[in-house]
Parts: sequence; structure tokens; C-alpha cells
Amino acid sequence: MEAPHHQAPAVTLKITVNSPEHMGELGRRLAKLLRPGDLVMLTGELGAGKTTLTRGLGEGLGVRGAVTSPTFVIARVHPPLGEGPSLVHVDAYRLGGGLDEMEDLDLDVSLPESVIVVEWGDGKVEELSDDRLRVVIDRTVGEATDGAAGAVDAVDEVREVTITGLGARWAEADLASLGA
Ligand code: ADP
Ligand code: MG
Repeated sequence: MEAPHHQAPAVTLKITVNSPEHMGELGRRLAKLLRPGDLVMLTGELGAGKTTLTRGLGEGLGVRGAVTSPTFVIARVHPPLGEGPSLVHVDAYRLGGGLDEMEDLDLDVSLPESVIVVEWGDGKVEELSDDRLRVVIDRTVGEATDGAAGAVDAVDEVREVTITGLGARWAEADLASLGA
């Protein structure tokens, strides 16, 4: 499919992640590529590992506060411990009205100066920016084989992560460094 003329073509990278620890590591690596104003959208079913990835991202950025599933809040701001952007972690699951509602949240932070990570944001927050990093996490539908229980557990921890950079911001970013 041809990309729209106003946007640079998407850059896509696929990574196989074998454990929660590896997912955290991916988040820490991704943090090195992020700049203030970046929007990262995380897509994947419940338990896919969106929050686990965000936790690694928060570690990589060096922000304050534990990154957890924001069950009772829609968005949580993690200020930087040193230099660098705040992390704004959004769970858009209950964000019915989309972006307007998010602006109404009155977060005490400048979004252009923050890194914004949104779980469940599809169809809701795209208008925040034409430049988006879209991260899709799939549980591989691996069949439980006749192996030992431990082996089945290991299969359970495999995730396919597809990272797509949309817009000019990501056209020249070194996404390949994430897979190394
Ligand atoms: P989500 O935010 O997508 O609902 P969480 O990150 O909160 O998911 O939870 C993911 C759960 O799956 C955690 O309990 C984590 O330990 C487990 N898990 C198993 N394998 C992986 C993996 N490869 N990556 C991330 N999480 C994994
Ligand atoms: Mg989550």
C-alpha cells in the first residue's frame, strides 16, 4: 500500500521477546531513542506486556515513581529524576471521548516536553501527533506441546513485538538498534 504523500513511509521492525525481563530491556533501549514530544502507542491484549514495556521505558528515561497499571487513573505523570523529559503514562481504556477528554485531565505537565506512552489508545489519540511510534505486542499462539511444564511456561512468555515508526520523526531514527 502506498503511503500518504504528506507522510514519510513507515519504518517497521519485528522483535521476538522471550521473557518479561527481555521486555523491560527493550523498553530501556527504546528510551534511548525517545525525545520530548514523542508519542508511543502500545497495542496488545490484556497481559500482553504493555505496562512491562513501559516500566523499562521509565527506567531508561530515569523518571520518578513506579510504573504500574493505572487502574484508577487515566494518566500518571512520572517526572524526571535528572535531565530529560517526564513520562506521561496513559491508560486510555476508559477514555471514552478521546483526546478532548485527555486535555480535560489537566495534567500538570507540558505534553510537548514529555514522552507520552498510551495503552489502549487506538482510534483515540492519533490526533495528538502525525509522528507516532506504534508498538504492537502479540502473544504468539504457540501450541502447548508434550514437553515438560517448564517448557510450556517458556512458550507462554514469547511475544512478537512489531514496532512501526510513523511520520518524518521516525524516518531517520535508528529503530534497528532496538533489535540488536
Ligand atoms: P498489559 O499492560 O499489556 O496488560 P502487563 O505488562 O501488565 O500487560 O502484564 C504482562 C504480564 O505477562 C506480566 O505478568 C508479565 O510477567 C507476563 N509476561 C510473560 N512473558 C512476558 C513477556 N515476554 N513480556 C512481557 N510480559 C510478559
Ligand atoms: Mg497495562
